[in-house]
This record gives sequence, C-alpha cells and structure tokens, in this order.
Amino acid sequence: MINSITKSIYINGQWLDVDPEKSDLISNPATLEALTSVAHGGAEETKQAIKAADQAFQSWGKLSGRKRSKILYKAHELMLADAERLGTILTMEQGKPLKEAIGEVKGAAAFLLWYAEEASRAYGEWIPSSVRSKRMLVIPQPVGVVGAITPWNFPSSMITRKLGPALAAGCTVVLKPAPETPLSAVEIVKIFEQAGMPPGVVNLVTGDAEAIGKEMLTNKTVRHITFTGSTNVGKYLMRESAEHIKKLSLELGGHAPIIVFDDADIDKAVSLSLASKFRNNGQTCICANRVFVHEAVAEDFQAKLKEKVEALKVGNGLDEETDLGPLINAQAVEKVQSHLGDAIEKGATVVCGGSLDESEHGHFISPTVLANVSDHMRIMIEETFGPIMPLQTFTDEDVVIEKANQTDYGLAAYIFTENTSRTIRVSEALEYGIVGVNDVFPAVPEAPFGGIKQSGIGKEGGHHGMDDFLEKKFVSLGIDV
Ligand code: NAP
Repeated sequence: MINSITKSIYINGQWLDVDPEKSDLISNPATLEALTSVAHGGAEETKQAIKAADQAFQSWGKLSGRKRSKILYKAHELMLADAERLGTILTMEQGKPLKEAIGEVKGAAAFLLWYAEEASRAYGEWIPSSVRSKRMLVIPQPVGVVGAITPWNFPSSMITRKLGPALAAGCTVVLKPAPETPLSAVEIVKIFEQAGMPPGVVNLVTGDAEAIGKEMLTNKTVRHITFTGSTNVGKYLMRESAEHIKKLSLELGGHAPIIVFDDADIDKAVSLSLASKFRNNGQTCICANRVFVHEAVAEDFQAKLKEKVEALKVGNGLDEETDLGPLINAQAVEKVQSHLGDAIEKGATVVCGGSLDESEHGHFISPTVLANVSDHMRIMIEETFGPIMPLQTFTDEDVVIEKANQTDYGLAAYIFTENTSRTIRVSEALEYGIVGVNDVFPAVPEAPFGGIKQSGIGKEGGHHGMDDFLEKKFVSLGIDV
C-alpha cells in the first residue's frame, strides 16, 4: 500500500480532497494487492478544471516562449532527479520491469527537455506578396484549452509527449489519465507544481472516463482534444467532436509487421524482434504483432528466437531479474488467451511458451512463439497487446509487402535487411507512419511519431509535435508605398 487515499484531482493549483464514497481502488497487477484509492471525478470536476484552464490561458498563452521554457526545463530536471522513485511507482501500478519503468521516466523527461527547447522556436512566416501595397504574415498562436486523454501502457511518457508541446505552445491543459495508472499522472502534476507552473495551466481529473470525456467534447472552451488509446475510442471522440469542430490529435492502435529478409543480419533481427515484441510485455502500440521471415533464413531465425524467448524471466517488475511483468488486468489476459486459443484451434503450432493459465498471484502469461500461422487467425488481423509472436514465412518481396499492408492500421512497420535499394523500395511501399529499418525503437523526442490510416491523425515528437497546438493566423497588411 502506498497511501490509503491519494488526492488525484488538481484544479487551479489545488488538490481536492477525496470522498471515500467516490473513489477507485488502484491495485498492483503483479500481486493484485491494493496500492491506494484515487478520486472518482466526473463532469462537474471537469467543468471546473476547464474553467480554470481557460482563465490561466489568458496569461500563460501570452508569456514569451522563453519564460514557458524555463518551467519546462525545471520540470525536466526534477523528473530526472527523481527517476528511480517515479519508476518504482510506475512499476507498481503498471507492472513493467523496473529498468523499463525508469527508462520510460527518463524518456518522458526527455520530451519536456525537447519542448522546453522548442518553446522559443515557434516560428511564423513572411510571405512575399504579388502586390507592392501588401505585406503578409503568418503568426502562430496557441490553440487554447486542451483536453488530454492518455492510456495505461506508458503512463508517464504518453503524458509528457502531449503536455510538453501543448504547454510549450502556450496552451493550458485538462489531463485525464487511464484509470489503471493515475499515480504516475499525479507525480507528474506534482513535478509541474514544484517547477513553478502557474495555477490552472495544468489540471488533472481522474475518474469516470465517459463523463469526463463528454464534458471535454461538449464544452466549447476546449479547443483541442489530444488522445492516445484504442482506435474504437478514437473514432468515438472524432464523431463526438464534430459538433463543435474541435481540433483532434489521435495516436491509436497498431498491428506492426516485422519483415526479415534473407539478406538480414539474423542475430540482430532476432534480438531486435524479441525486444520489439516483448518490451512492456507486448503492450506497446508499435510492438511487432506479425513477423514475416524469408523462407531461406526461417529455420535459423526460429531456432535462435526460441532459445532467447525461453530464457526470458516472467515475474514481479520490482524483482531485478524480471524481463516480463504481468499484463495490465484480467481482461487483457482473457484477450491474449483468446488469440492464442483461436490460433491453436486453427492449426498454429507452439514453438515455445503457450501457457493459458493465469497465475493466481497476478496477471501473468508466458512469452509465446507460434509457427504455422495463417492469415485468417485473429492474431494476424487484430492488435493482440500481449506477449505472443506469430511467425509466417515468405519468399517474394511484393507479396510480403502486400500482406504487411493488408490491415486498416498504419502505425509502425519494421524491416531487417542489409540491402540499400531494398531499404528504400520497401520503406516507400509500406503504408505506415513509421518504418524502422534494422531498428525497433523509433519513439524519440526529436522525430515525428504517429500513424496513418486508422492508427491516427497528427504527429507527436519533433518540431512537428508543436503543430497541432498552434493555430496559424494569416495577417494581411495593406500598406502605403
Ligand atoms: P482505451 O481503452 O482507448 O483507453 C485510453 C484512454 O481513453 C483511457 O484513459 C480511457 O479511460 C479513455 N477513454 C475510454 N473511453 C472514453 C470515453 N468515452 N471518453 C473519454 N475517454 C475515454 O485504450 P487503452 O486500452 O488504455 O490503451 C491501449 C490502446 O492504446 C492500444 O490500442 C494501443 O495501441 C493504443 N496506444 C497507441 C499509442 C500511439 O502512440 N499510437 C501509444 C500507446 C497506446 P477508461 O479506461 O476509464 O475508459
């Protein structure tokens, strides 16, 4: 138990008391033990938070980028200095191994650093006029109040990847974190508080997703909704925000293919495919969901992969030896089990793992590799979000590209090859927002991250990440010449 109750609603610089009658229990997915209870807020708290954010916007939006940047720098420093404690909290509420959790916290801090730097670089434009008596300017201005909704799989970095650019641009924010992982959100808000963020600039509401979301969608003051989560919820937000024509950034689900060509460095392909699939226990939007291996190297790849997967240690993330923690909750275990059961029933063979049992002490499932996988199995069609790696073989480049593209998702795809022409050819042909070539870690502060097709709209990261939070106002000047 961390505390019996944790204040988790923060409005206009004040932490609200928690009514025990209106609270949600947070438990550790590795032990199923209760950690604490947090507030179960709804429409009323969200309305107040939006009002506070609107008031704060009147001054925060007018500050110079340099002044906003100072607070973001400070928040970055505080977060880095506290990475170990924050990582421990993250592991306890989310389950991932401590080394991954500390890595996530450091990565989350890196987004604050990047956007502290970008805050001073929101450039406008001077457009050469075709008429002598006109001058034309484009000035970037903050969008206004932003509603940010985040998932549980990266409880820290998904928040700073949104709040960093929003705050740098001069927007103010109402944040709704995932119900499974509110504690990392509480800690991040405390860091902003310590860094000197003025009241109302960052507000936090935990609780009833539908009620909080509805208020964000129907309240005209919210000008932009930035969401990371499932494609289904993304579609709902898009439909419901039509009424007020709100701006939207959507980072949604994925179904990433890995393609291992016969000219690949096989040892590298095996280690990185393993890292892509099993990091965060397969609960990553860009993790490998389907692996296509050229027939000529398939036997070697599978044998080396099996050896490495069998060596992975599953357990409590706080244990130093652990490579894979638990899944987030019982529904996640159920979904992974159903994908596994469906594949086996339709003829897939288990290369290793394959345990269908949920441990009585947590939501654990063993890392699994499947062979003889065919296209009509659910695992080849839907996002699994768990530690199961289906292998398929191929011989022809065009055929495998077609298969890789045969999905409504378009977030990330990976190829392993040492051939330059193939690298360019295949990268251009893959219908994905991100292509990793001999690389499976494309989420960095300095580059644009985001999907196409039903994986999303907009980019997070890089200077591109600021675009969604800035309106481009055209000022047309008639002058005497
Ligand atoms: P989710 O079920 O869509 O939930 C995401 C967030 O949306 C949660 O905070 C959830 O709160 C909230 N939410 C649900 N219904 C809502 C509504 N009607 N109004 C307002 N908010 C609502 O997704 P998840 O299971 O947490 O996360 C996993 C998904 O996120 C996967 O599909 C993964 O691929 C995707 N993801 C994408 C990226 C990316 O960058 N593209 C990164 C990470 C994850 P409640 O749980 O309380 O409903």
